[in-house]
Amino acid sequence: MAQDAQPSERADRSSPSSQEGPRSTPMMAQYLELKAANPGILLFYRMGDFFELFFEDAETASRALGIALTKRGKHHGEDIPMCGVPVRTADDYLHKLIKLGHRVAVCEQTEDPAAARKRGTKSLIRREIVRLVTPGTLTEDNLLDPSRHNYLLAVGRTKAADDFALAWADISTGEFYLASSSSSQLLDEIQRIEPRELLLAENLLADPQLGSSLRQLPTSLTPLAPSRFDSESGERRLTSYFGVATLDGYGAFTRSELATAGAFLDYVSLTQLGKLPGLSPPRRASAKQTMLIDAATRGNLELVKSLSGEQSGTLLAVIDKTLTAAGARLLAERLCAPSTDLQEINRRQDAVAFFVNDAALRHAVRSKLKGMPDLGRCLARLSLDRGGPRDLANLAASLKAALEIVEIVNHNRGLIPPPDEVAAAIHSLSPQPLHELQSAISTALVVNPPLLAADGGFVAPGYRKDLDQARSLKDDTRKVIAELQAAYAEKTGIKSLKIRHNNFLGFFVELSRHNGEALQKSALQHEFIHRQTILNGMRFNTVELSELEQKIATAAEKALAIELEVFATLLGKMKETSAAVATAASALAVIDVTAALAELAANHSYVRALVDDSQRLFIKSGRHPVVERALKAASGEDFISNNCELGDSGDDAHRILLLTGPNMAGKSTFLRQNALIAILAQMGSFVPAAEAHIGIIDKLFSRVGAADDLARGRSTFMVEMVETAAILNQATARSFVVLDEIGRGTATFDGLSIAWATLEYLHENACCRCLFATHFHELTALASKLKYLGNFTMRVKEWQGDVVFLHEIAPGAADRSYGIQVAKRAGLPPAVLARAQEVLDLLERSERSVARRELIDDLPLFACPPSNQVARVSDLVEKRLAEIVPDDLSPRQALELLYELRLLTARR
Ligand code: ATP
Repeated sequence: MAQDAQPSERADRSSPSSQEGPRSTPMMAQYLELKAANPGILLFYRMGDFFELFFEDAETASRALGIALTKRGKHHGEDIPMCGVPVRTADDYLHKLIKLGHRVAVCEQTEDPAAARKRGTKSLIRREIVRLVTPGTLTEDNLLDPSRHNYLLAVGRTKAADDFALAWADISTGEFYLASSSSSQLLDEIQRIEPRELLLAENLLADPQLGSSLRQLPTSLTPLAPSRFDSESGERRLTSYFGVATLDGYGAFTRSELATAGAFLDYVSLTQLGKLPGLSPPRRASAKQTMLIDAATRGNLELVKSLSGEQSGTLLAVIDKTLTAAGARLLAERLCAPSTDLQEINRRQDAVAFFVNDAALRHAVRSKLKGMPDLGRCLARLSLDRGGPRDLANLAASLKAALEIVEIVNHNRGLIPPPDEVAAAIHSLSPQPLHELQSAISTALVVNPPLLAADGGFVAPGYRKDLDQARSLKDDTRKVIAELQAAYAEKTGIKSLKIRHNNFLGFFVELSRHNGEALQKSALQHEFIHRQTILNGMRFNTVELSELEQKIATAAEKALAIELEVFATLLGKMKETSAAVATAASALAVIDVTAALAELAANHSYVRALVDDSQRLFIKSGRHPVVERALKAASGEDFISNNCELGDSGDDAHRILLLTGPNMAGKSTFLRQNALIAILAQMGSFVPAAEAHIGIIDKLFSRVGAADDLARGRSTFMVEMVETAAILNQATARSFVVLDEIGRGTATFDGLSIAWATLEYLHENACCRCLFATHFHELTALASKLKYLGNFTMRVKEWQGDVVFLHEIAPGAADRSYGIQVAKRAGLPPAVLARAQEVLDLLERSERSVARRELIDDLPLFACPPSNQVARVSDLVEKRLAEIVPDDLSPRQALELLYELRLLTARR
């Protein structure tokens, strides 16, 4: 790697306003050419030990990074704004910029400055863009969240139909997927994948409705020319990428999928400057094999993100017992896309059961997973020639642990044969080439190798004779230097003489000013050549030292060259085996997730659900996994479990359960816990219940009737209705719908009517399983009309005028909501509570219109509380005036007081 810029173009950071530098110089011309080729992207331009940014880039970056904006030279008579970041810490700055949604082109010096100098002292060092860093194409550990995938997603549209194709991959691990989506499901699908960067044809963004929805997504958007989405060149790119004559072996793909995959690969190759990451062959992600959970449901159930946008308090946080980053990523992926494939679900459950039943085996396997490096991401970096010796060492450490896991499971095999999922994973971890690769790397490298190969010092002693020789020469020279220092001290008679080293002078003799001046006047003045005077001393060179310098440099260069050769050989070996390593990485993630789910089941009394193709949903003693854990942590209290029975078991079975009951009684908790249990069951996990039977669910919907989406210009009620419409239009007989207080965002009668009609529609048309919680007690009357609707309520006890929540569900209907009791607990003022009780009594006694008249005519506002509870206005004014000292008031405060007093009197 080039050490430094040419002196003429080296960034002199101590005098940023220097007139030298990029002022219409050849270097500026080089910069502008590179910049023009990368519009809209911040250009990190390498100058010596810094990456510099100029012009608008400098202004943007200095603002974003909080670093000083300086100026340097002139362009067309104007100062050139400049800022820079040190190369050593550039990753940290990149991280910040990428997080803020910027893209960065990294321009490196691609020749040694010495080579450029040979062409003439003023010649320009060659520089090239070596990489475009974008949010979706990161591979560096410190730029990535270890437990989440970093997906880059391309979306294309079929010209004729209103269908979309999606192609996405995590460049840092290699999984590559293709899928199609209808326009109605596109946004949900994108939000399920949660891409870090979204590639789109420009014309999609120009579409008024779609474009605006896409812009609202919390992802970085990268528009591409529509011409990049071409199916023929897409197919060509795919076949050449995977080195196959035809894609038939990977499945059948639509033209639109091929076009989108082509645009995807094109962008990846553009950003990686031709170095393509090791992607797995494209896998078709079929929506048919996945339980559809739309974005609103995922948010509402707080699967991976809480309503406040955090990871804590989510289902994922509670169930995640994985020990590796890849395991955590796979778990999140399975949670967001539970399966509808019975065989797949059973395979996963069998695997979890295997580890549940054998605690010793589970602990042994998990002890090997603990602390395991991220094999997939090491592999990706190494495949892109962006990895170093530490990545190789981590890869070997992972493979070693993997082989130990194989041994542990195989040792057990005689006792209990592993189920298919575990057996397949173990098989993927066993091939001989992995063994060989692991031992080749382990024998070649030292225990804690450096991050970068260029730093050297990573090949183990004894691995290469020539390297050992070069290194010992280096060590010998150190000894020679020490001897030389002693000899010079004796020769000059200066005991404090020291031989030191820096990059600028190489080796030199350092003396105090006084001794240095004396030496210059002595007979030794020709042997000790003066090089530099510093504040407290003088520095000298000798012929012997120069020769030594040369010798050491040669030995060090030789040693590094040998190390780089060893690194290249190991890297080559790794690349030959990369497909097997990638499979092993996926297998380890499967083992981790499976053993983690078993750990969860064993520690928290989860059971295996029976999942079949019936339409039943039976949960005995079900618990809400998150509320249960939070209750325990907060108060040590036990969660009250509840049963839920829907569908299929005979003619009188309920398909819809209408839940009424007081506020705070646990309705929402009950609704959500059943939805979460269904998700857990279909992702292959055990579930928090005593028993569960889930007839496969194709789509799950969960809605609460009160959430603004002001960013998208929707009011509370509009959001509620849009979401309800989505459910009514999409739910099938296999769906499970959870509706919490639908119709609350509008006038009582409007809301009641909508809730009423919604229930009828779900019962008669969608015929799905449904849990419906409401405070519209009028709806309970529907049970006499709708055959499959059952009334249930949350039990409470009244005690000394207060209400005690039992959190138990029981057949029947609630007659009241106890809202006033809950308000009392919340601390509403007694006057308000008393008045509310009066209004409620009146409303319950008479017809609504009569009540309203009576309220207006007979009960002046807050007439009910005893007069001593409501302070007289004159008292309040008096009290307020007594509090102030008029002389202390500023004119403004006096004016404010006047307004305050006027407000008090106006309230009368
Ligand atoms: P509202 O009608 O006001 O929305 P709700 O009936 O939906 O109320 P939840 O929000 O489900 O009530 O529950 C209120 C609180 O009661 C929860 O935060 C939880 O702490 C507690 N709770 C709910 N269900 C249970 C349970 N089964 N066991 C123990 N505590 C529970």
